[in-house]
Amino acid sequence: MSDAEAERAVMKEPTTPVEQRKLSMSSEDYLEAIYRIMSKSKDPEGVRSVDVADQMGVSKASVNKAVSSLKEGGYVSQSHYGRIRLTETGAIYGAHTWRCHRMLRLFLERELGVDPETADAEACLMEHALSHDTQVRWLRHLEKQGLTLEDE
Ligand SMILES: [Zn+2]
Repeated sequence: MSDAEAERAVMKEPTTPVEQRKLSMSSEDYLEAIYRIMSKSKDPEGVRSVDVADQMGVSKASVNKAVSSLKEGGYVSQSHYGRIRLTETGAIYGAHTWRCHRMLRLFLERELGVDPETADAEACLMEHALSHDTQVRWLRHLEKQGLTLEDE
């Protein structure tokens, strides 16, 4: 996926409403982790499963299992070296989930005064519940309070 494609995925709406989504919370966590690593590394070859394992604190075997099912669903592809790349659909879900995470973390920390570690952990659980529409409304609400999402 090129930078331009990644950019376009950022504000694109996941096509499946949250209540009908086939993706499990765990699959969304994987897409989020791959998206985060990819945004940082910008390596067009994709990400290594060991980096995903480190980021999520899980075993490489767990990553490989999750990646096979994400591949079946058309969310990721894999090069013959085993590098993992998000498909366009995978990138949309990864971007959506990661944006929800950062938004909820910002809200919990800055509006409710939750400590950063708790805010981060709880944001990663709550991120799976929001539709794109709610996310957009919430972001607008935060902007009215002078809070904007920083890139990470
Ligand atoms: Zn998260």
